Amino acid sequence: MKIAFLGLGHMGLPMAKNLAASGHDVVGFDVAAAAVSAAADAGLATAGSGVDAATSADVVITMFQTGAQVLDAYRGAGGAPGLLDVATPGALFVDCSTIAVDEARAAHALAEAVGHRSLDAPVSGGVVGAENATLAFMVGGTDEDFAFAQPLLEAMGRRVVHCGGAGLGQAAKVCNNMILAVSQIAVAEAFVLGERLGLSHQALFDVASNASGQCWALTTNCPVPGPVPTSPANRDYQPGFAGALMNKDLGLAEHAIEATGVDARMGMLARQIYRDFAAGEGAGKDFSGVIDTIRADSA
Ligand code: NAD
Repeated sequence: MKIAFLGLGHMGLPMAKNLAASGHDVVGFDVAAAAVSAAADAGLATAGSGVDAATSADVVITMFQTGAQVLDAYRGAGGAPGLLDVATPGALFVDCSTIAVDEARAAHALAEAVGHRSLDAPVSGGVVGAENATLAFMVGGTDEDFAFAQPLLEAMGRRVVHCGGAGLGQAAKVCNNMILAVSQIAVAEAFVLGERLGLSHQALFDVASNASGQCWALTTNCPVPGPVPTSPANRDYQPGFAGALMNKDLGLAEHAIEATGVDARMGMLARQIYRDFAAGEGAGKDFSGVIDTIRADSA
């Protein structure tokens, strides 16, 4: 079975390496020449173009930044053949990029229209998860396609969840990250309020982490230094999960909220707060650094 892996960036290269290390025949490609060189240096087989990599492939995995990149690569641009044109008939297309639900559904439809199979399979776990093969995959597609892909995804991750039909992997990702954004802001606001009331960080942590305020944003990604020594707050908010990426994911949440008409005021406010955060230095900082802007904006 030949697997084409396209998009060898921060996430894609370690994922492709883990897939190859598990014994699969993987050929990689990236439009950035430096990424192809890095892959070759890491011992991965590489191709001269995406179409070359996908020619006669049984599985085509993509790990790009945006939905437009995925759809353009699938279709081909400017009359040139796309990935869908060259893969083995009935090949499985697995898109691991984080893109909008409707873009994912469009990608499924394009693949199915020419007789291929397709899954959306975004991930969480970051670069560390990609390197250590501990990613969580959220997968949308049919039962049969999920069952076929499961061993491949398990070579790159630890938790592989079938969320339902086309686009529902992306739906799970966007909903989870909206919870995360809102809860990280709420935890940061609580610490700043506690500071103003004379409450120590440790005392608030000791209470909330054992009470109903307990959540990942507090007990793993604690936005103040001290209580959780491994949290980004202890290293000047080096990511972790950068503000720019949270802002991107909340843009996808906003798109989904508008498309569905859901009354998600907290999600939309989080979107606004992280858009402002990512417009400045926050873009490159961990998203828990939003606590600094809350402090700065407080009277
Ligand atoms: P990245 O920018 O490092 O990598 C994307 C790569 O895709 C780039 O190297 C780019 O050149 C390549 N690319 C774009 N179009 C291409 C094409 N047509 N053919 C071949 N290569 C192409 O991004 P990343 O950090 O690896 O993230 C990838 C995706 O995963 C994004 O959608 C991101 O939102 C998501 N994600 C990232 C993280 C993270 O911590 N970095 C965590 C979870 C999810």
